[in-house]
Amino acid sequence: MIYKRSSALFAEAEKVIPGGVNSPVRAFKGVGGTPIFVKEAKGAYLYDEDGNRLIDYINSWGPMILGHAHEPVVNAVIEKAKKGTSFGMPTEIETQIAELAVSMVPNIDKIRFVNSGTEACMSAVRLARGFTGKDKIIKFAGCYHGHSDSFLIQAGSGASTFGTPNSPGVTAGTAQDTLMANYNDIESVKALVEANENEVACIIIEPVAGNMGCIPPKEGFLKALRDLCDAHSILLIFDEVMTGFRLAKGGAQELFNIKADIVCFGKVIGGGLPVGAFAARNEIMNYLAPLGPVYQAGTLSGNPLAMAAGLSMLTELNNQSEIFTSLAEKTAYLHKGIAKVLDDNKIVHTINRVGSMISVHFDGAEVVDFKTAANGNNDTFKAFFHGLLNAGVYIAPSAFETWFITEALSYDDLDFTIAAVDTVAKTL
Ligand code: PLP
Repeated sequence: MIYKRSSALFAEAEKVIPGGVNSPVRAFKGVGGTPIFVKEAKGAYLYDEDGNRLIDYINSWGPMILGHAHEPVVNAVIEKAKKGTSFGMPTEIETQIAELAVSMVPNIDKIRFVNSGTEACMSAVRLARGFTGKDKIIKFAGCYHGHSDSFLIQAGSGASTFGTPNSPGVTAGTAQDTLMANYNDIESVKALVEANENEVACIIIEPVAGNMGCIPPKEGFLKALRDLCDAHSILLIFDEVMTGFRLAKGGAQELFNIKADIVCFGKVIGGGLPVGAFAARNEIMNYLAPLGPVYQAGTLSGNPLAMAAGLSMLTELNNQSEIFTSLAEKTAYLHKGIAKVLDDNKIVHTINRVGSMISVHFDGAEVVDFKTAANGNNDTFKAFFHGLLNAGVYIAPSAFETWFITEALSYDDLDFTIAAVDTVAKTL
């Protein structure tokens, strides 16, 4: 494939945008080469500025669960835009989408809309701290909750139980309040809770990890977290920015039948517009301003275009819940097909999958946490990525990302992809 125009556009972008991109993973640093500039997209396909067609397995990192430029969503946005794009005043549609979300998701009474997943997680943690009167939080290595300071933390050294900043600009003071546990390792969480008795406000987790590839929670792990939280008056926050309205109507809470205290949303809930949200039972949500003392706000929060896109998307998912089964079936088909051709070509690999989230790791061992995810062969991944790209299949430009399956993908698209993996596997 030719990427002449994408390369030229990237060179222009680099002059005025740091690294040429508005979010780092887009720069292809993990795989090398030049980022592809998208011209338009429809259904399962991206069309780039050089006229190449790519089958898209990223789908804007999750939101486009029904495919690109999905007509009901696009029409809802167009109709809303004609009536004004932002008021900073209440609108009826905010209540409509809130009512729908609350009816779809278990264990929530109220929901507050924000503009991104980052804002949702940041606000959820502030609310948890305000509600419990405690400062520390526990997160898991390899889980991503957006780029707010409290989450840009890595495990501390030696015997310390608190984290250290993993980006300049995050203060050591902030890092001290974030404790790092290992995914799927309940003992690591218990040790932190015991060492910080009466200090931990919340445990935040991706109930299916999607930011170190796709990693399912081990049987009993989420339940053990729930029990631990109950025993120590700690709030359990499910970051369902990826899993919400994707794994089931009610997200991971419904899929695993585990109750979270606060749930964070993003991606699908906005139908491709900038939306995030966090939700909980009344007792917790009533702690938020203007009802309660915990401050949280946003000029564009509940923006009418964003609410129109989200309402259209959630309405379709609510009315046609067979979509979740169909998505899971397509993903299982892809899994089986890719595993077979990789096996046939003797490529060592592990594939993880939950619902419509899937990832391919180039390592033979089980991938259960950040450490095992990092064992994957990155050189193989790079060659795999570029081989697929050349064949017209676009997967995430990083070995630590999940592929998102969209309902717009046909079985022909999946067969095309499996054949492309076969061709690429012969070159690895
Ligand atoms: N939480 C999870 C699980 C995510 O995957 C992401 C983004 O990928 C975020 C939070 C942050 O969302 P946003 O990029 O909308 O700020």
